[in-house]
Amino acid sequence: MPKTTDDSIKDFRGVWVYVEHADGKATGVSWELLTPGRHMADALGVELGVMIVGDSGSRLATEAFAYGADIAYIIDGPVFSHYRTEPHMRAVVHLINKYQPEIFLLGATVTGRDLASAIAIEVDTGLTADCTQLGVDVEKRLFEMTRPAFGGNIMATILCEQHRPQMATVRPRVMPMPARQPGRLGRIVREELELKEADIATKILKFFPTESEGVNIAEADIIVTAGRGVGSAENLRMIEELAQATGGVVGASRAVVDLGWISYAHQVGQTGKTVRPRLYIAVGVSGAIQHLVGMQNADTIIAINNDPEAPIFSVASVGIVGDLFEVVPELTRQIKAAREQAAANV
Ligand SMILES: Cc1cc2nc3c(=O)[nH]c(=O)nc-3n(C[C@H](O)[C@H](O)[C@H](O)COP(=O)(O)OP(=O)(O)OC[C@H]3O[C@@H](n4cnc5c(N)ncnc54)[C@H](O)[C@@H]3O)c2cc1C
Repeated sequence: MPKTTDDSIKDFRGVWVYVEHADGKATGVSWELLTPGRHMADALGVELGVMIVGDSGSRLATEAFAYGADIAYIIDGPVFSHYRTEPHMRAVVHLINKYQPEIFLLGATVTGRDLASAIAIEVDTGLTADCTQLGVDVEKRLFEMTRPAFGGNIMATILCEQHRPQMATVRPRVMPMPARQPGRLGRIVREELELKEADIATKILKFFPTESEGVNIAEADIIVTAGRGVGSAENLRMIEELAQATGGVVGASRAVVDLGWISYAHQVGQTGKTVRPRLYIAVGVSGAIQHLVGMQNADTIIAINNDPEAPIFSVASVGIVGDLFEVVPELTRQIKAAREQAAANV
């Protein structure tokens, strides 16, 4: 990979976030990324930009400004109406080459991962995928991209010293949403890109809706997660009852999914979903690092485990050392009773 010269590196300024959208709606992670984006832009003394490719640009720009962006770069045109790697990559590369951001963030979604790798190759820079923490060395203007490595056993901080932009993808729900400031203003920069349908190798023929299992743990406010400690698929009923009593959904450790007790859609962790609920109840979960990276940003964590040394207690706001077969039914009973009491008082 040819090196970007020290002199040309100095020309790159600004922190950018790619706004991924479909049907006029941005993915949540696009706005979440404005939180670390704003923080780094302020630390570096530069603007926070967003890049919007395709229609709905102006409306999404207004949203982006409300969430903290200073400037929105928009490229629109018929070839960009639905996501395809090639035209979107060309649009982003055009903007990067012209405006030269030093840091560029994308969501680690299916689309974000696809697009980020294509862009990194085209602009000849590095890419750190699936980051869980971001920081910046202001003096050296180096972006510190942290992600699990070696099977999740260590957290590695990766630098991209000799190429620009410094690019990372970040999983949804890892970063908090920024506060919304309606009416906050920013600048819009519109760019044209001559790209015709005939220039693009892929054609969209038809859309097929994806089959959903009806559970979306990534968006849930309350999750009750079953670990191997629950002992059997039948015992998951107890976890479902607790989830129902709290108004939450059922999550699972990988051990539980691998044992075939529940489907992969419920898995929390490095190879499952990253979640950020208000309340996370971990039942019979040991707290392996690969599990913790997927849930440690929950607002409140309650851990139930009969081993006082279980690592899950290191991230728990409330730890209950005890037998889950006693604790869970009692907790469910008390929550139901409290709810019934509250309903009776209305
Ligand atoms: C590359 C890689 C990726 C991985 N990705 C993930 C991932 O995405 N998500 C994930 O979860 N794991 C993942 N893992 C697996 C991870 O390392 C652990 O093996 C797994 O999380 C353990 O699941 P567990 O906590 O349910 O089971 P265990 O580690 O077996 O823990 C069971 C816990 O239940 C407790 N317990 C037992 N009986 C009771 C009882 N009666 N009352 C109360 N407590 C009880 C025990 O004390 C123990 O702490 C990954 C591993 C690798 C190598």
